[in-house]
Amino acid sequence: MNASLDGITQSVLNHKNISFAQAKALCATREDDLYSLFNAAYTIRRKFRGRKVELCAIANARSGACTENCAFCAQSSWNKTKAKVYPLLGEKEIFKRALLARESGAGYFCIVTSGRGIQDKKDFRKILRVIPKIRAKLKLKVDASLGELTLEQAQALKEAGLFRYNHNLETAQSLYPEVCTTHTYSDRLKTIENVKKSGLELCCGGIFGMGESWPQRLELVFALKKFNPECIPVNFLNPVSGTRLPKKKPLLPLEFLKITAILRFIFPRQEIKICGGRETNLRSLQPFLFSAGADSIIIGDYLTTKGNPPSDDLQMIRDLGLAVN
Ligand code: SF4
Repeated sequence: MNASLDGITQSVLNHKNISFAQAKALCATREDDLYSLFNAAYTIRRKFRGRKVELCAIANARSGACTENCAFCAQSSWNKTKAKVYPLLGEKEIFKRALLARESGAGYFCIVTSGRGIQDKKDFRKILRVIPKIRAKLKLKVDASLGELTLEQAQALKEAGLFRYNHNLETAQSLYPEVCTTHTYSDRLKTIENVKKSGLELCCGGIFGMGESWPQRLELVFALKKFNPECIPVNFLNPVSGTRLPKKKPLLPLEFLKITAILRFIFPRQEIKICGGRETNLRSLQPFLFSAGADSIIIGDYLTTKGNPPSDDLQMIRDLGLAVN
């Protein structure tokens, strides 16, 4: 380990927050030193998060036909994709998906809906009714990602027993106008503030591999840090045919691992959850995620794309000597 990496690692292990300059130094890690960086991130993860892996399954409870123009998203009506379009699923169907999540080994179940938010009061009440049923009967922690949320909606979800709410910053503020123009970065911040005020746990992260620079990665990560989210969801762009992001050379798997490791330095105590794009971007390096500092993954299928069979991921975790929480 080089002296600078060693010093930064010791500082994090001694409960000190990493500075922007130190994070910049980590971003400059050369290829020869990457495995030392991963090893250091793993040491931090072991100290603050142990050897447990959290598993979260998601259900696409309302799909497609979204009015927003997020360039990466297969469910935006501005993009020409083959994503399914359907209104909010019934309570029984959402419960059935939660049951499948539990059977796949997940401890968390996240109800996700396409669209800017849930404006229809009947739909919102449906979600409020199903949350306590899933908690009581299936003993799962229930999360949701329903787009923009008012403070009243956040409080109602908390009262219904929701554990955590996901709303990502998606990318750096400086890149955001190239990714979405139908709602602003400030709109996103408003929902995040409402989630924090309601007392719900916050799940807030972004997507990497959309053409952002290393300084923009740090811009995103330090913006996230201000909110101190309990969970940082990390997506690696999996470009779906028909979405509008300009074609860029895909990142190498080692670069995604480097991003994961740097996140662990910046968020030593938080859950770092690897979400969409894991299989396609990391390929055979997926097990390295856990030795680069991640401690949580999505298990099963994603919103519009397939994931690994859950049994394969469970086997991978067992083979690594890690334990499912
Ligand atoms: S990310 Fe959400 S808001 Fe943006 S287009 Fe997709 S479903 Fe709509």
